[in-house]
Amino acid sequence: MILLMGISGSGKGTQGKMLADQYGLHLISMGDVLRMYVTGKQRERMLAGGLLGDSEIIAIVDKVLLSIPDDETVLMDGFPRTIPQAQWLLEQVKSGRFQLDAALHLQASREAVKKRLLGRARIDDTEAAIEARFNEYERSTMPLLEWLTQHNVKVINVNAERSVETINNDLARHLQESQKP
Ligand code: AMP
Repeated sequence: MILLMGISGSGKGTQGKMLADQYGLHLISMGDVLRMYVTGKQRERMLAGGLLGDSEIIAIVDKVLLSIPDDETVLMDGFPRTIPQAQWLLEQVKSGRFQLDAALHLQASREAVKKRLLGRARIDDTEAAIEARFNEYERSTMPLLEWLTQHNVKVINVNAERSVETINNDLARHLQESQKP
């Protein structure tokens, strides 16, 4: 498994799809999975840019992963986003369920991605929801990068303020290196 991490708008979705197509890998986009499962109040929370609860996210990821052979590489876009989610993931790795090769962190500033998001026309791409996602990222996900490093997960930072092709080349190189035995 390879984790794709980064602030909203950093290009996880675009890059994840490109890599999965280039290397023939499974791609799980947590946002897309949730848009399939989540209704009512939770959907409102999602649209407002807040994170959903760890236990429900974990239950959903567990279900999705059960449908994929454990020995095949999965690109995971948008999970884990909090330390409890990462704790669950590392427990699965420890129990031998699957292997965690690396976390690719798409690094970009709020200023750099804001214009991209406002041009995307997703219903949760309003100024307020974007701001809430940025704040959630800083509060919950940034500390996770440090936490993963401390738990011996290889975190690779990639400058995501460049062109799609340049970022893709870098990610592809890191992905290939992380897959070497
Ligand atoms: P994304 O498509 O990755 O921007 O995700 C859209 C929304 O789904 C986020 O703003 C959150 O509300 C929710 N979401 C996605 N992944 C997670 C996660 N790992 N934990 C909690 N909420 C999530």
